[in-house]
Amino acid sequence: MEARADVVRRSIRLAGVVQGVGFRPFVHRLASELGLAGWVLNGPQGVEIEAEGAAERIDEFVRRMLDDGPPGAVVSSHEISAVAPRGESRFAILESCVIGVRKPALAADLAACEACIAEINDPASRRFRYPFTTCAACGPRYSIVEDLPYDRRFMSMRQFAMCRECAREYNDPSDRRFHAETIACPMCGPKLSVIDAMNRELASGDSALHAAAEAIRRGQIVALMGIGGFQLIVDALNESAVGRLRERKRRPDKPFALMFSSLELVREYCALSANVERALTSEAAPIVLLDRLERPAPNRPALAGKVAPGNPRLGAMLPYSPLHSLLLAEIDRPVVCTSGNLSNEPICIETEEAIDRLTNIADIFLTHDRAVVRPIDDSVVSGNAIGIRMIRRARGYAPVAIDLGSGGPSVLALGSHLKNTVALAVGREVVMSQHIGDLGSAPARTAFRRTLDDLRSFLPCRIDLLACDLHPDYASTIVAEQLAAELCAPLVRVQHHHAHIAAVAAEHGLEEPVLGFAWDGSGYGLDGTIWGGEAIVVRGAGFERVATMRSFRLPGGESAVREPRRSALGALHSAGLEPPASVLGWFEGEMAERLLGILDRGHVPVTSSIGRLFDAVAALCGLRGIATFEGQAAMDLEYALDASADREGAYPVMVQREDELLVGDWKPLLEAVLADLRTGVAITRISARFHNALANFALEIARAAGLARIATGGGCFQNEYLLHRVTTRLESAGFQLFAPARIPINDGGISFGQVAAARRAARESEDVPGRSR
Ligand code: ZN
Ligand code: ZN
Ligand code: FE
Repeated sequence: MEARADVVRRSIRLAGVVQGVGFRPFVHRLASELGLAGWVLNGPQGVEIEAEGAAERIDEFVRRMLDDGPPGAVVSSHEISAVAPRGESRFAILESCVIGVRKPALAADLAACEACIAEINDPASRRFRYPFTTCAACGPRYSIVEDLPYDRRFMSMRQFAMCRECAREYNDPSDRRFHAETIACPMCGPKLSVIDAMNRELASGDSALHAAAEAIRRGQIVALMGIGGFQLIVDALNESAVGRLRERKRRPDKPFALMFSSLELVREYCALSANVERALTSEAAPIVLLDRLERPAPNRPALAGKVAPGNPRLGAMLPYSPLHSLLLAEIDRPVVCTSGNLSNEPICIETEEAIDRLTNIADIFLTHDRAVVRPIDDSVVSGNAIGIRMIRRARGYAPVAIDLGSGGPSVLALGSHLKNTVALAVGREVVMSQHIGDLGSAPARTAFRRTLDDLRSFLPCRIDLLACDLHPDYASTIVAEQLAAELCAPLVRVQHHHAHIAAVAAEHGLEEPVLGFAWDGSGYGLDGTIWGGEAIVVRGAGFERVATMRSFRLPGGESAVREPRRSALGALHSAGLEPPASVLGWFEGEMAERLLGILDRGHVPVTSSIGRLFDAVAALCGLRGIATFEGQAAMDLEYALDASADREGAYPVMVQREDELLVGDWKPLLEAVLADLRTGVAITRISARFHNALANFALEIARAAGLARIATGGGCFQNEYLLHRVTTRLESAGFQLFAPARIPINDGGISFGQVAAARRAARESEDVPGRSR
């Protein structure tokens, strides 16, 4: 006596991150619970479902599917249409269909879930202490995928044939591992081994894990094959071991990230807040930059000083794979966990390659036979009480698409030269690659080409537009020119600082016009000089430079980036000020004399960069003459601040009008710094007055421009205090401030900004009057 008239059948298509996140099993369970019939499959564009049953049950099905999806799933769009009921009684998962025009969205690598971690710690489980335990809701994704749809036969798991027990779980709708493509167990799955630099196996399985833990406890350096490639691990409490890692990696000062076995242990060393706890324990499991406690909790040994010398912050992460979790539990202390590479090169992903390239760094290698398909670094986010901001977007975030809010032509953007990422926009979505790094080395440029190929093969489409930086000599620009010729696609060259601001505007969907402060180390300017202290108004496809900093000659160009002493000399020379002993002291022999001669003759690059101004002031204050990594001197100056900075005064910056351009003259600022140094004012206060001067300058420019919406972009704003000060000063004067959160504020966000600017340019050319749209 069933009222068959009530039965309806709906075809439902879901797009977004819906493959490789346990979506089909979830749909299956939900349909079974609601007594619906039909099927689900991984289609070429996402998940496709047909569901049949009572109308209100179908409504509930759709609602819960959209609201309560499995962790890691992001439904970006859905379509529902009515189809004729078929009188089916079962709900089934059908085979993936491989043919289609556009491939579905890719999922990022997901940290091990609680259930899997509980299982590896349960002596009764058949996966007790098994380091490759995963389920439908967790485990590696993008790092092991060769092709789509997300299916075992298209990933590096394909060489492991499921044993009977795993196959049973895989086919059991009530099991957590129902259709878990990375399913494995000690019987059938990947295996761990420890090898030495001669590629001799020293131990395997659980004894390999014990051997590696023992080596770390003894102060050795272990190269571990993780999710996105090799990492170097060393005891963070052992000063000489950390020192050895620094020497061997030729990385004297740049802070190392740490891995802690638990959130509780992080709390013994760092200040936590709800925001940062959420980030640490999220599925992406990034490195989170945290304020370190002045001293660790009682009974906790101090970290080695060489972990992050002179740095009040620590980069911390939690174990994000069962392998990391087992190893950390075994070692029972924080470890340094840094990428397994040589400086400025991509991380090693293959064991042979690691032995070859890391042999002078690592003592032993903890490796396995589940191949890593592409290198993906650990992501870095910065956290404080206000929120989380992306610093390096890689494992756990890339390649999840970002919604642009509207469609347009497809754009392939090749990004910046430093901290490179590339991006491909198709329809409303843009997929940004993982962090690739500086394109200065040949291996980095190879990784860059390979990442471009990856994006294009995962998102096959006709490329309508290419976008690149304005700099004619960037490796990315040269590749963009080649591709433009190959694909017969127009190339849009986007000025660096325009891209910074376009990225912020696009992330927040800001209505134009927008005033943007783009402050960074360097970017090629429209006039061929090096910009970096710019205020621009973005309107339509173009931008207008409304303010900048007084520019100065930089002796040595490229080498000046690594030598704050050169910025100090250049700035003082330009202002007609005598270099004090504190600056001259940074130079050996006749070097200062020689550079001053070069400055007089003037055949050197000219810059308006605020990054270089930070360098100059840091060198002037005696903090640093030569840096070992980009931004180090600016960090010194930031870390010289204390809690009283907000109450400190500000140095003067004189704003002058030169034609249409406002120019901030920092000569009075330098004079005041020199005077303070002479009278012995503490560096803490000098630094505060300098930071506050920049915020005052921004306020004056904002008032002159008279626009309500203001974006901040560029590497200088990684400086937490500078961003805070500029934001609060301008907000209290009634302006609305926007900083990027999901997109890196540094050059890692340039590809995203290039996409936005190129889309805008394309729309503009369509808007030509008389042309139909
Ligand atoms: Zn799991
Ligand atoms: Zn098995
Ligand atoms: Fe930049």
